[in-house]
Amino acid sequence: DERLVGREQQTGDGRDRALRPLSFSDFVGQKAAIANLKVFVEAARRREEALDHVLLSGPPGLGKTTLAQIVAREMGVGFRATSGPVIAKAGDLAAILTNLEPRDVLFIDEIHRLAPAVEEILYPAMEDFCLDLVIGEGPSARTVRIELPPFTLVGATTRAGLLATPLRDRFGVPVRLEFYDEAELGFIVSRAASKFGIDATPDGAREIARRARGTPRVAGRLLRRVRDFAEAEGATEISAPVADRALGRLEVDALGLDSLDRRYLRALTESFGGGPVGVETLAAALAEARDALEDVVEPFLIQQGFIQRTPRGRLAAARAWEHLGLAPPQSGNT
Ligand code: ADP
Repeated sequence: DERLVGREQQTGDGRDRALRPLSFSDFVGQKAAIANLKVFVEAARRREEALDHVLLSGPPGLGKTTLAQIVAREMGVGFRATSGPVIAKAGDLAAILTNLEPRDVLFIDEIHRLAPAVEEILYPAMEDFCLDLVIGEGPSARTVRIELPPFTLVGATTRAGLLATPLRDRFGVPVRLEFYDEAELGFIVSRAASKFGIDATPDGAREIARRARGTPRVAGRLLRRVRDFAEAEGATEISAPVADRALGRLEVDALGLDSLDRRYLRALTESFGGGPVGVETLAAALAEARDALEDVVEPFLIQQGFIQRTPRGRLAAARAWEHLGLAPPQSGNT
């Protein structure tokens, strides 16, 4: 079923397929995670076993899907992809699982959004490679056990904390992806630019990297827009001034904050006096989905020291006030 499972994921990066790293050695950054994964993949390959189940967690755009594809490729096995919200019924997941080849990688994106009934049949599938299906209804209903080929589940989630504990516990290899540093993103931008057929000077690539929120997907998106501006200006290469002008017009500021980031910080500081304020209240004030704030906006603002997440709500740090050119409230207020 093409809707449930596809060889390739239908993401906004469709056109970037040519840019995706295809092997561990191609994959920039995430050094510790890659080093460990390499060991486990190599060991599983040598034993000709399925790799243990892998849970990839981290903000969107850091390379979870890419890494899942690389794992399958390095294992030399098939790759199937689906996502939590797409699998509506237990039967949908059963159909996917019974169609796997031995040792295949099944990638489930947004695995924290699986329906509870679906999650339940996933447990024995992950643990014992079997399915317990109920056939028929009422008094004549009976359970049949179906053996599955050994497979590797690679789950991806924006926040591992959203997973039910029994599900999280069934992953032998938890991997947390971190934001990328400027040098790593600079390398990714340079390589992508040359694949796009345009030159980026080292300073030009750096300028985009510095303002990409630590995220390869953002870097790719900014690079495409900067290229458009460069072509419109008649520039032959992406230099730092070209990148700076383009990013300014895209309202991406010097630290990489975009207009939503700044609206968030303005609401938190100006409307709520710096907090603490609950995320629901912020979401309502900004007319944005709470999930989008928690998954996309906040992780970077936290990592950069603009805000803090406390049990009583979100709190603006001094850096947030400074960045907006506002005077922080007298200490002792919060
Ligand atoms: P996620 O699944 O975490 O949302 P993806 O794997 O879809 O992220 O990656 C988003 C984009 O960033 C893709 O276009 C991918 O090619 C690129 N990308 C991610 N990680 C890297 C990396 N380490 N090196 C180069 N490009 C990367």
